[in-house]
Amino acid sequence: MITCRNSISTFALLLLLKLQLTAQVPANYSANYAKAPRFKALIYFSDRKEGAHVIFAHQTIDYLQKLTVGDGFLLDTTQNFGNYSYEKLKDYQIVIMPDGYPTKKEERAVFEQYMEKGGGWMGFHESGYNDKDTHWPWFVNFLGGGVFYCNNWPPQPAKIKVDQPNHPITKNLPLTWTAPASEWYQWNPSPRLNKNIDILLSLSADNYPLGIKDVINFGDFPVVWTNRQYRMIYLNMGHGDEIYSDATQKLLIINALKWVLSNDKQGNPFTK
Ligand code: ZN
Repeated sequence: MITCRNSISTFALLLLLKLQLTAQVPANYSANYAKAPRFKALIYFSDRKEGAHVIFAHQTIDYLQKLTVGDGFLLDTTQNFGNYSYEKLKDYQIVIMPDGYPTKKEERAVFEQYMEKGGGWMGFHESGYNDKDTHWPWFVNFLGGGVFYCNNWPPQPAKIKVDQPNHPITKNLPLTWTAPASEWYQWNPSPRLNKNIDILLSLSADNYPLGIKDVINFGDFPVVWTNRQYRMIYLNMGHGDEIYSDATQKLLIINALKWVLSNDKQGNPFTK
């Protein structure tokens, strides 16, 4: 019995040694495991918005929180942008706005400074809404000049088409797919007319007439774009509880998040 136990121990020891040897990383190892959280993200949201936008904001927090599993990144949330001076905000490699933007002058000034100095931004749905009452020309320019023009109602699924299939955000997505129900905003002028704007995704003209109560019949309909002057992306989806119900759309959101971060002039956090 003793001999048998000894041989089992020897076997276990050999197995342990083998595992340790296997754990040594060869030079051409394809994975890059994080040794610490790769970046810090801040979600600025508000519960004082239209119910369907608040639901989306909370689902965004839940979804991004799940992506932190394994401490890949640190995620903070706030409903008070006034708590963030520029000095505090610049610690974050990306600011995410699911349902709106700062409305106070001082808060807007901090956000402008952050973006002008290389900050990252991912905005959804209402965070791009602007009209005659917005009074923030810098932000309208930041978005590419498009002012809210009209929307379909009620929220519904719509066929998306990829405008730039080789872009890092779209290269692993199908060329067309049906996005889950959202309220879709159309813009005037179309941000596509702005030379600094890269339109990545649009609603296909196949969707027209789009809507039941409020029906959109024609026109250019970009839904996801970037402004090359900044490290930013805007995604129009973000109304209601279905936005995170589709794998393609969830992949798009991960792609968008990673793309904004990977263009940080301070260094690409995914290569650390
Ligand atoms: Zn909406």
